[in-house]
Amino acid sequence: MATQPSDLDGVTEGCSECARDTLHKVRVELRTESSKPENAEFSREPYRVSTCMECQTETTQRMNNA
Ligand SMILES: [Zn+2]
Repeated sequence: MATQPSDLDGVTEGCSECARDTLHKVRVELRTESSKPENAEFSREPYRVSTCMECQTETTQRMNNA
C-alpha cells in the first residue's frame, strides 16, 4: 500500500481550465475496468478524482501506473 496523504480535504494543484493553481477537493474511487469481464472482480482500480473548487472541473487519474 502506498503512502496516503493525511489531508484529503483540499489540495492546491494546477487546473487546466483555470490555467493556474487552485484548491481541489480530492477523493479516491474504485472503478471496475470492463475490458476483461472474466477478471472484473479483480480489476477494480483506484482512481484519484480531484475537483477544482473554482470551476468544478473533475480530473480523474489512475493511481496504479505500474
Ligand atoms: Zn478550475
